Amino acid sequence: MRLTVIGTGYLGAVHAACMADIGHDVLGVDTDTRKIEALAAGRAPFFEPGLPEILVRNTRAGRLRFTTSLQEAADFADLHFVCVGTPQRADGLAADLSHVEAVVDGLAPLLTRDSLIVGKSTVPVGTTRALARRVAAQVPPGIEAEVAWNPEFLREGFAVQDTLRPDRLVLGVSSPRADQVLRQVYAPMLQAGIACISTDPATAELVKTAANSFLATKISFINAMAEVCDASGADVVTLADALGHDARIGRRFLSAGLGFGGGCLPKDIRAFLARAEELKVGEAVSFLHQIDRINERQRRRTVDLAGQLVGGTLDGQRIAVLGATFKPDSDDVRDSPALAVTAALLDQGADVRVHDPEGLDNARAALPGPAYCDDVVETCQDADLVLHLTEWPHYRALDPRELAQVVRSPRLLDARNALDPTAWRAGGWHVRALGRPAHV
Ligand code: NAD
Repeated sequence: MRLTVIGTGYLGAVHAACMADIGHDVLGVDTDTRKIEALAAGRAPFFEPGLPEILVRNTRAGRLRFTTSLQEAADFADLHFVCVGTPQRADGLAADLSHVEAVVDGLAPLLTRDSLIVGKSTVPVGTTRALARRVAAQVPPGIEAEVAWNPEFLREGFAVQDTLRPDRLVLGVSSPRADQVLRQVYAPMLQAGIACISTDPATAELVKTAANSFLATKISFINAMAEVCDASGADVVTLADALGHDARIGRRFLSAGLGFGGGCLPKDIRAFLARAEELKVGEAVSFLHQIDRINERQRRRTVDLAGQLVGGTLDGQRIAVLGATFKPDSDDVRDSPALAVTAALLDQGADVRVHDPEGLDNARAALPGPAYCDDVVETCQDADLVLHLTEWPHYRALDPRELAQVVRSPRLLDARNALDPTAWRAGGWHVRALGRPAHV
């Protein structure tokens, strides 16, 4: 099938490459010329495991091309996936839909055939209906274009496998025809037995928002338990292990620590709160305010504990920060808890050095101030405290004994509960972690 993917960021570039990989003829579209040039040359404009290989394979095979022209997109296909950003608005909690609106406003008047426009971006419930009206008002006479929603659940770091083998596909459609077209697009996945739920667009939009709200709730729940553990001397890791054995609860997303960040969860729960207010059901989801607050509080707790560990004041202390991205296996620093903590350390006068395996360029652009280092040993040189803020596998492989030789004081704060405290203590370190007693 011929299809376009409009917006080739973390979501769209992977979607475009994966759709080509399952045999479709794909044209990726973005307004960012540098991104399009890189993609057209078969280069991933960001770090995502597995993406470079499928980009090269499919651009070489001629199944995957890129452009900045919406006219070319309209001429190329009658099936268009919309994958542009929906960030938080500057003036409040709501989602900024201007990029999505710009795409449909640009595309609709250019359509020369009946078309299907399929949103994949995360949007507030009701967006498809509003966009359908917008499209209908702008298509040329005699042309019909349906708007459907097919939310995306991929995780950065696993984006290729999540796109090719998702837990489920959700198709929010208004006609049997749209359902049929989307099932044809995803035929290889359906043949492989992947669950597919066809529903109305509003339910599809809400599945994504609800899924992110649930995941955020699970993380903030265990982080709230971590605070109780800190106050009572209990151990949140053992607590989470024991809770996780209950099949109704499950262990995943129960890792206590610095909390969630990135370009999705924080803005998505805020956008949900704003939309719920508009729908006059703000009270029903008001607990999400608390989920957001608990999450933000972990950043302050980490900074406070860092201060305590260096004797009360961070001013003039040399702090080594391990991790800048919002999660491992990604170079994404949008709303990164690690960078938020780094900024707070700088504000309190600390001398901060930051290491990250893939995110240094983005971190430098987002937060000037700390020294950014390519090497962990250089980062930890003469440090008064080492802060582990993003759980890259890289850091689990460090040799605590070796690192103890280069720091000024072998003190570790593991804000992700991901390093082995026994091994670090055996290596001569004083180890603290969020939600764990000092001796565990
Ligand atoms: P991103 O910022 O990486 O990518 C958005 C892209 O859209 C950018 O390349 C930008 O240049 C482009 N763009 C903006 N306006 C455009 C226009 N008018 N025409 C063409 N291109 C335009 O964002 P992302 O992380 O890929 O997220 C995109 C959407 O997908 C968001 O709604 C997000 O919530 C959702 N989503 C993201 C993920 C994820 O893990 N990143 C997962 C699921 C859903």
